Amino acid sequence: MNFIEKIKNAGVVGAGGAGFPTHVKMGTTVEWLLVNAAECEPLMHKDKELMQHYADTIVQGIKLAAEHTKAQKIVIGIKSKNTKAIASLNTAIKKANSPATIHEFADYYPAGDEYEIVAGITGKLIPPAGIPLDIGAVVSNIETLYNIARAVEDIPVIYKYMTIAGAVKNPVTVCVPIGTSYNEVLSLAGGSTLPAFAVIENGVMMGQQVSDLRKTVTKQTGGLIVLPADHRAITRYQKSTKEMNRIGKSACDQCSYCTEFCPRYLLGYDIQPHLVMRGLGFTAMGQDFWNQYASLCCNCGLCTLYACPEDLYPREACFQAKANMQVKPDHSKHKPIKIHPMKEYRRIPGKQLQNKLGIRQYDVPTGFIAEVYQPKEVRISLQQHIGAAAVPVVEVNELVQTGQLIAHIPEGKLGAPVHASISGRVQEITDALIRIEGEGEEYK
Ligand code: SF4
Ligand code: SF4
Repeated sequence: MNFIEKIKNAGVVGAGGAGFPTHVKMGTTVEWLLVNAAECEPLMHKDKELMQHYADTIVQGIKLAAEHTKAQKIVIGIKSKNTKAIASLNTAIKKANSPATIHEFADYYPAGDEYEIVAGITGKLIPPAGIPLDIGAVVSNIETLYNIARAVEDIPVIYKYMTIAGAVKNPVTVCVPIGTSYNEVLSLAGGSTLPAFAVIENGVMMGQQVSDLRKTVTKQTGGLIVLPADHRAITRYQKSTKEMNRIGKSACDQCSYCTEFCPRYLLGYDIQPHLVMRGLGFTAMGQDFWNQYASLCCNCGLCTLYACPEDLYPREACFQAKANMQVKPDHSKHKPIKIHPMKEYRRIPGKQLQNKLGIRQYDVPTGFIAEVYQPKEVRISLQQHIGAAAVPVVEVNELVQTGQLIAHIPEGKLGAPVHASISGRVQEITDALIRIEGEGEEYK
């Protein structure tokens, strides 16, 4: 079996959030392989822990990815504050005689945005609405490269590393089988320190509040942040879209701070959230003109959670604008991209962002548990990736072993297969999931 088949069969998808099937990305030829180790969501530490503990495996994944994409320039982008992770990577690079180099960033947000990381390392700008491949680069996340190295050893993606932080007894990074419930994952951090709390998955800036803690871990889950139920980062989102729009329409004074701090605008792209906010005062037809200024939004949240002095929702306005856009903007007609002269001076330091968000007190050293947690039951989603949902190949009541294929990619479709993350008996199969109950020595 060749490299691409191995990572396809192992179900490797982008672990940095999007869940794009990795075998497609790795089937390209590029000049640059950029390793996204920026991990800029406040309080999230799982990539840092992976680099500290599994640097050899990650460097092996980088080597394999570079060989197969024929990349000549291999650069790991990481924040200079992660000194232990950098030391572990440097040791592993030397040991493996790898050509990979390390590019250090200051601690700012959003260092991990693909457009940002590509510009910061290569000095090139991705064309508007383009992808890194357009400038001859592939960007891969740390955990994805870790999974690539394991896939080549025929180990499928069945576990997920996650940081549990915020108002919990023991903030920690853990390794859990895919399909474990958030309730159980929280208990690994000792549970919340508060009687009334709320949980955000995948980070305060770009994540979402979890409405039901029976939700389960997927290949895209990176962590859980626990906050007081009345925390501003929670209550601000308890408004309906209609309410957000009504307030935005009446209170936006067009100060344009949202645009002036927008990282994509500062890179030179034609994105202007204050103009999207202006559109809220127009009819649906009139709004379409202003909506085009949202098309290059990366959803980083800086405008809503940091820049706006009126506590409005420009990010959410951009989100709606993209969904409602009738006429797609023709980016080829836009003026050439030129980095804003104030770009470097308007970076948002990580600590400053934490202060603004009111989460600085939760920025404490976290533990790391290498041992894989064993839940009694897993509910494994069939849609953990971009593309078509996986199709079950097992039946109810069937005994399955850890790592066994339980759902495959539909014929001719983009997708990723799904494997059993624990050994046990299949109890339920629906359109959305496969439920396995643990059986065997470890479950007695
Ligand atoms: S920063 Fe806030 S008030 Fe100013 S233009 Fe943007 S949305 Fe309007
Ligand atoms: S969320 Fe706001 S700051 Fe971030 S890219 Fe979109 S418009 Fe710019």
